[in-house]
Amino acid sequence: MEWLTDMAAKRAELTPHRVAFTDHDTGVDMTFAEINDRATRFANALLDRGLTPGDRIAVLCMNRADFFVILFAAQKSRIILIPLNWRQPQAELEPILAQSRAKLLIHDADFAAIAGALATTLGLPLCPMGEDAANRPDSMEAMIRAASACPVGDGRIPAEAPWYLLYTSGTTGLPKAAIQTAGMAWANMVNYSMAATLTGSDCCVNYLPLFHTAGINLPTLPLFLLGGRSIILRKFDVDTVVSLMHKGEVTSFFAVPAIYQALSLHPDLEEIDFSAISYLGCGGAPIPERILTDFLKLGATICNGMGMTETGPTVFLMDPDRAEEKIGSVGKAQILTDVRLQDINGMIIEGEGEGELQLRGPGITPGYMDNPEATANAFTEDGWLRSGDVARRDADGYYFIVDRIKDMYISGGENVYPAEVERVLTTHPAILEAVVIGVEDAKWGEVGAAFLLERPGSTLGTAELPAWCRTLLAPYKVPKSFHVVNELPRTAAGKVRKNILRDSFRKAEETSS
Ligand code: ATP
Repeated sequence: MEWLTDMAAKRAELTPHRVAFTDHDTGVDMTFAEINDRATRFANALLDRGLTPGDRIAVLCMNRADFFVILFAAQKSRIILIPLNWRQPQAELEPILAQSRAKLLIHDADFAAIAGALATTLGLPLCPMGEDAANRPDSMEAMIRAASACPVGDGRIPAEAPWYLLYTSGTTGLPKAAIQTAGMAWANMVNYSMAATLTGSDCCVNYLPLFHTAGINLPTLPLFLLGGRSIILRKFDVDTVVSLMHKGEVTSFFAVPAIYQALSLHPDLEEIDFSAISYLGCGGAPIPERILTDFLKLGATICNGMGMTETGPTVFLMDPDRAEEKIGSVGKAQILTDVRLQDINGMIIEGEGEGELQLRGPGITPGYMDNPEATANAFTEDGWLRSGDVARRDADGYYFIVDRIKDMYISGGENVYPAEVERVLTTHPAILEAVVIGVEDAKWGEVGAAFLLERPGSTLGTAELPAWCRTLLAPYKVPKSFHVVNELPRTAAGKVRKNILRDSFRKAEETSS
């Protein structure tokens, strides 16, 4: 399909008066008609300013309905949007803005200071957004007020052109700008909503950061396309999420494992009627089985899934009927994505087996912006995206993510997948979360170093852990050192940044030797 419809315009035509977004902080609702009107005017305003299709603009804001106004304005005007990671300091944002040649930085009041500093260094025009800036002549609000409401262009949206750019989370190295297209968004809508039985009557809570694919797409954008409602929180707050679930407002839910972990420790969790929530999706990182079983006891079936920034993101999702029986699995590849497993000799594995997971379909990115080398490395010669993950397919066609290829290490000639060791460690009653990395060792080449978060109320004696591990794991998989830590370095989406752990472990070793 070469051309697609303008998402906001189409939705406004179908269900103009239904609420698309509720801002939890202000209580303000925005209908589909309002979203489309604001997006149309903002697109016209950007073009009136002299920006042209293909130009890049950036946004630095917490979660707000107006983020989606900007996103749809970008789609209408074909100006490419770069949602910036608000956890990054100025020193990291500067090269992103410079290399991407961004021509405007839109920001909310929370980031006025850093936006001002970036504007000064880069000579970048600013556009403040949000209620506080409404009366400023250069604000998004003023631009919307002054601009035409006439439809932009002919309403046809190219399926494969860059719409917005998402930087990968950087858990394995330097982030790359993965191109996101309208075609990918429609494919994700089909993949996610068919698996999660999402409908226009559903309501979700949007709190994952909007500079990650999950914040935009799981499931806010699919729900928007279906005519459903998203309640927008500026950012994750466990009490608010539990209270919305308790009130029965949320009927479809997606979270990353770190969020399910926070929910599992909440005192009011048992008060929630989970039968009112039709789907509880999860993905982004391995989830400890204990969290899945704890939720099952409350009548809540968490459906594990797997996706990537480069895949729109939904690839795999578990069906609730098999979630308990296939615990630990990410389910099957959804309807618009093909997957295959390739072994280390380049042979494609049929039936049961383990190999590199490779993906193909309309949900897959065309590549990384301005980075042909990274794009070429990411795809096989016959056009499949290399996930960089090892996956296993069982006899029933269900998939299990074994680990990232880059995280695997070799101890005494044996391959060790840290994810397997982490899974075992989190079955220990005093361990809340476990992270294992491979580190250099004079005798074995590499050995595991485990970083552990204690379960609240327990005291973990690390001296007993090697013996305990040996009852459950082959000796070469047992970490050589165990470190109880108060926190783990994470991305904004809650993923552990193993590269940071590796660096600090190496530095600590160097200092002590
Ligand atoms: P970078 O590419 O910058 O290192 P990243 O790989 O974390 O960042 P994302 O696109 O955010 O970028 O994450 C995709 C990866 O997350 C997958 O390739 C996989 O390794 C991991 N992942 C996603 N879902 C799961 C899951 N359910 N279980 C295990 N791992 C998962």
